[in-house]
Amino acid sequence: MSVYPTKLAIEGDDHLLIEWSDGRRLRYGFRKLREACPCATCREKREAPPAPANLLTVLSPAETQPLRVVGMKPVGNYAYTIAFSDGHDTGIYSFERLLELGEATQGGRQVEECNIQK
Ligand SMILES: [Zn+2]
Repeated sequence: MSVYPTKLAIEGDDHLLIEWSDGRRLRYGFRKLREACPCATCREKREAPPAPANLLTVLSPAETQPLRVVGMKPVGNYAYTIAFSDGHDTGIYSFERLLELGEATQGGRQVEECNIQK
């Protein structure tokens, strides 16, 4: 393992921010993370053919709420499980996968970062 998270933070209402040991700071929209859930159930759902329009799944109350990340737990030293506000928490997000999913951030928010050692 070469790169690992050094800091996790929730940013605003809908983003997770992860700082990595190589200095990258990546953002993750909660919804995007949830949609990328790597667990078997979600993978199957994503790979299933789209339902015909008249069979569209009715949204459960949880699905109409703004989605949030409510918890993260390390798995060994290579991944996190992420718990979402819709009750789903079985996805194991490897660091590798998280590095792929993140959107790079830069500048603009450096004011709060003066305690970071260079
Ligand atoms: Zn899942």
